[in-house]
Order: sequence, then structure tokens, then C-alpha cells
Amino acid sequence: MTATLTETSAPAPAPAPSAAAAPAGPLDDARSQLAEAAQVLGLSDGMQRMLATPRREVTVSIPLRRDDGSQDLLIGHRVQHNFSRGPAKGGIRYSPHVDLDEVRALAMWMTWKCALLDVPYGGAKGGVRIDPRAYSTAELERVTRRFTSEILPLIGPERDIPAPDIGTDENTMAWMMDTYSVNHGHTVLGVVTGKPVALGGSLGRASSTSRGVVDVALAALESRGLAPDSTTAAVQGFGKVGRGAARFLAEAGVRVTAVSDQYGAVVGTSGLDVDALEAHVDATGTVVGFDGADEIDGAALLELDVDLLVPAAVEGVLTAENAPRVRARVVVEGANGPTTPEADAILADAGALVVPDILANAGGVVVSYFEWVQANQAYWWTLPEVEARLRERMLGAWTAVREYATSRDLSLRTAATAMAVERVATAHRLRGLYP
Ligand code: NAD
Repeated sequence: MTATLTETSAPAPAPAPSAAAAPAGPLDDARSQLAEAAQVLGLSDGMQRMLATPRREVTVSIPLRRDDGSQDLLIGHRVQHNFSRGPAKGGIRYSPHVDLDEVRALAMWMTWKCALLDVPYGGAKGGVRIDPRAYSTAELERVTRRFTSEILPLIGPERDIPAPDIGTDENTMAWMMDTYSVNHGHTVLGVVTGKPVALGGSLGRASSTSRGVVDVALAALESRGLAPDSTTAAVQGFGKVGRGAARFLAEAGVRVTAVSDQYGAVVGTSGLDVDALEAHVDATGTVVGFDGADEIDGAALLELDVDLLVPAAVEGVLTAENAPRVRARVVVEGANGPTTPEADAILADAGALVVPDILANAGGVVVSYFEWVQANQAYWWTLPEVEARLRERMLGAWTAVREYATSRDLSLRTAATAMAVERVATAHRLRGLYP
């Protein structure tokens, strides 16, 4: 009962590796990181161009009937960057800033993340250009069901498995799963991950990205001789990733002195009461206005005098412009792509340790993989089982990346990307080119 796609667009090939234009956005950043890893690995130009180009991408329009009876038209994308190691995997983003190049970059990073953590997936990403806060829950459900219908032939437990990202959550996944299942005539739990636990979700999935960020952050701090109880941290973004990261850092004894969201930032040098802050955000929808903290400009959070900085919001926030003023000694990327290559170089010269996104925030896809395995086997694991397996994967990857970086005198990002790219390139070579 699989529908047939009537319109797809062939992905534009990546420019030749030698065409080194100035990086200008997430896709340029992702391709520049790939180029650096390809150089370390001595990859051929042909292999590098193939890895820089998505395997498949689709752009769809999503007509929406608004609650007031008027009609809106939204644009959505799904990009499948690679399938060499298994079905594609990656989140669905609802944001007014979504564009095709951003989705392409995020899909490529998913491929490297899955390979680095050795989960048997390729990479994908999707997005709808929409400000979810401007739409009712009923409207968001209609958007989700129509978007799912439009990409239906591309997704499936053995094809491409979406998950939540910015602006989406477990409800979005429940609607996607239901739409897919209704169209297939039976319930297919493995088509998405990040579902509600009552509907085939995994225990521990909702907090998994934040848990992984904090597991790796504590290991990174330790590598710099910093004990949690003598460490301060600032967290940018107070959504699914940033909020959990702040909570787990505080539980580990780290003094979380500043947090931000898209509306502003709050700082309290003696440490924020994260429980009270969460209650404030639940009540008001923003960190702004939190009692007992001073308000600062959102951008200023990145330059505070803290030991640990966790950017957990959006891409491209640490740039050549502000990187010279970043004082944190350790930066752990909860977000995807928060640091541009120019900022990376500046931070490295200043002696800061940057733990890259494809390692630091991989906890989400690791537990998504656990959720998919559990759904496919119809057998559920306990929370301690999930969390122990997650920690083992995260710390194993941290140790492997660190050793690879140290032995070759590379940054953690180049080491992590090279390790991942090598696994994907090996899968390509073993499968061969068809025909
Ligand atoms: P979310 O929508 O739950 O939260 C995003 C948060 O960032 C919100 O608090 C929002 O107000 C804030 N924000 C947006 N723009 C900002 C800005 N300019 N400055 C400060 N704050 C800003 O999204 P999320 O799921 O927490 O995702 C955050 C990042 O983590 C994204 O880069 C996403 O791709 C990445 N990520 C998410 C997961 C996951 O499991 N959700 C997994 C891996 C990586």
C-alpha cells in the first residue's frame, strides 16, 4: 500500500572539493568539516563529492486549513544524506528558519553521528518552515499529518526513521506514527522514535540527549582537571536539550550560573536554582523574568566567565566575531553546528576544548536506536538498562575520539568526523557502485 512519489528533485551535487568558497552557513560548515576529515583520511575527490551530496531530497508544499477557516501554505523538506550503513535517521524541525541547505547540513551531521556511535543507520533530516508557537495544537496536528503524507513513500522502519528536533516533540511523533500506520493498514511503531512511552516510546528517550551531553561534559571537564563541584556552566537554549543539560549538570554538582532561550538570558553568579527555573519556564514559557537572577542579553551568555559552555539552541552561534571573547575552557555542543569552522580555529588557538556535536549530542540517536530495536522486537527495557547502555556508548565514543585525536594531533571535531567518515566510506567501498 505504499504511495508513489510524484515529484522529487535530484539533489544538487556538491561543488568540487577544491572550490573552497568562504563558509557562509551550516552546509558550508558541514562540507568544510568533511573536507578536513577527507584530507586526514586521504579520500579521493570522487568519494568526497559523493559524501558531500545527499542521496535523496524532497521538497513538499503543505496546504493548511487554519482554525479560522483561512488557508495557509507551508514548505517542508526531507533530506536523506546517506544509507550506506542502514536506514536513514534524523529529526524533524519546525522553525521559521528552516531552509533546504540547513536541512542538508543537519542530514550530513546525522550520518556522521550514527557512524561515530556505531548505530546501524545513515543520516537524514526534515523540516517545515513554520513558527510552531503561532499555531494551535489542532493546526500543528494537521500540518504534521499532511507533511507525513507527503513524505510517506520515503519513510519507514527500514527506510528512514524520523524523530523530534527543534519545535517538535513526542506528540508530533505520535501523529506521524499514526498517519503512517493508518496508510499502511496496521500499527508500525518503528517508523519514528521519540514517541510517548505509552505508545512504544523508550524509557529514557526524552532525557537521552541531555544525559549524553552531561556524561561527555563531565568526562571533558575531568580531562581538564575540573571537578564538577568547582565548575561553573552556562547553557544556551532551554528546550528539550538545554533544559535537561542544566538539570543534570546541577545534579552532578556543577554551578549553572546562566541560561538563555530565544527571548533572553538570565544569570546568577552564585548558581541558579534549576528546579525553580523549570517551574518558572513551565508557568511562563520563557526563562526571562526568573526571580533571583539578573537579565542579560542572550548573546552575552556565550561570553560569560564560566568553565563550561553548552550551546544547546541553534547553528552558527559561535563565530569568528565572538569566539575571541569566549572565556569557557570547555565547550560541549548540545546543539548541532553551533560553532563555525572559523570559531573552531580561534577557540583551539586559545586552548579551549570543543567537544563536537556529532559526539556530544549523540545520546538522542543512541536511545532512538534502542527505541527502534525495542519496537521491532516488541520487548521493553527498564530505565536503568537504557541509561547504563547509553552511558557505555557515550563514554566509549568519548574515549575513542580522544585517543584518535591525541595520537594524530587533531581537534576532537576533526577526529570524530574522520572516524565517522572512514566508517561510511568503508561501507561504500564494500557495497561497491551499482550498476
Ligand atoms: P527545542 O525546540 O526543544 O528547544 C530549543 C531552545 O532553544 C528553546 O529554548 C528556544 O527558545 C532556544 N533558542 C532558539 N533560538 C535561540 C537563540 N538564538 N538563543 C538562545 N536560545 C535560543 O529544541 P531541542 O530539541 O532542544 O534542540 C536544540 C538543539 O539540539 C538543536 O540544534 C537540535 O538539532 C539539537 N539536538 C536535539 C536533539 C533532541 O533529541 N531533541 C538531539 C540532538 C541534537
